[in-house]
Amino acid sequence: MFSHSPTAANTLSSILVPMTDPTTRVFDGHNDCLLRLPDHTPATAFLDGRDGGHLDLPRAVEGGLGGGLFALFISPSPETTSREQRRTDTSDGFHLDPPPMLRPAYARDETKRLLDRLDAVLDAADDRIVLVTTADELRSTVPADDQLACVLHFEGAPMIAPDCSNLDDYYDRGLRSLGLVWSRSNQFAHGVPFAFPGTPDTGPGLTAYGKRLVRRCNELGIVVDLAHLNEQGFWDVAALSSDPLVVSHAGVHELCPSTRNLTDDQLRAVADSAGLVGVTFALSAIRSDGRDDPDTPVDRIAAHIEYIADTVGVEHVAIGSDFDGASIPDSLGDATGLPSLLDALARRGFDANERQLIARENWLRVLESTWD
Ligand code: ZN
Repeated sequence: MFSHSPTAANTLSSILVPMTDPTTRVFDGHNDCLLRLPDHTPATAFLDGRDGGHLDLPRAVEGGLGGGLFALFISPSPETTSREQRRTDTSDGFHLDPPPMLRPAYARDETKRLLDRLDAVLDAADDRIVLVTTADELRSTVPADDQLACVLHFEGAPMIAPDCSNLDDYYDRGLRSLGLVWSRSNQFAHGVPFAFPGTPDTGPGLTAYGKRLVRRCNELGIVVDLAHLNEQGFWDVAALSSDPLVVSHAGVHELCPSTRNLTDDQLRAVADSAGLVGVTFALSAIRSDGRDDPDTPVDRIAAHIEYIADTVGVEHVAIGSDFDGASIPDSLGDATGLPSLLDALARRGFDANERQLIARENWLRVLESTWD
């Protein structure tokens, strides 16, 4: 019997939990649902359900989603739209031009607009959704059948002042996880432009401001998310951060050579820090040909999870769906398809304890240790 836990002997025993419930509730490391809700009726759309997309409260309940990182993402401003994501097709793939930086004032206005949208949903939710900001809230909410834990995440930091002077304000509003960049550069770091095939080593590392932001996140207890960061930036954070390394939604470069995916050396650094990778469902990051083909078996996601478990240990791999942020396999569909992924993991030989680590316990462990 092969093991999914090559590093387990000395570390896993302390974090194994008994599998008591066959309908394991999932904690998911990334969704863009907030971005997709209509401005005029965000609460109704999320609480009662909506057409299309991947996630709302009824579908979370049906799929066993107990909580996740809800991303606040800043869309391109009207003045930069024409220079966004210009695509060049190549013989074996594609690359997109690096998108332009956003104006900080625009990013802050958009952040306020999206935070107001989130508040509208929370106000109408009557405790069915909890904006979780502490380890105790996380531990009590995620397993609860009648509650959904919402952890506020910013995907990219263009709204953060270079001197971090407004970071505390966002912390007070509930921010507990921060991606330094999306795939566009900002005052702190450089994102990876999307390309296939391609290496994540696409440019320089963190700026001096970026290094200060990492230290300040460590002090406050905010997760520093390395998804969309280029490889040099990743190594800069690895050398600097005192918290577990977190990549909320990405795949394995060895299985799919996208710029967005992680090399084996990066996987080992994540494991050495007791961190985790949330495996994305995004087609372009899981298929070996990099194509956006929705006719892709759910087992393709399980293959990335298994690779990470076999390479660095099952305690360092989790789920980071990218619901409502990417094209995903039709075979999974939306949040109601989460059990099909757990079934695929079972077919690959992951036992109940390992499935529970992947489904939620690894995320809870990393968030708790970072927030404490
Ligand atoms: Zn993303």
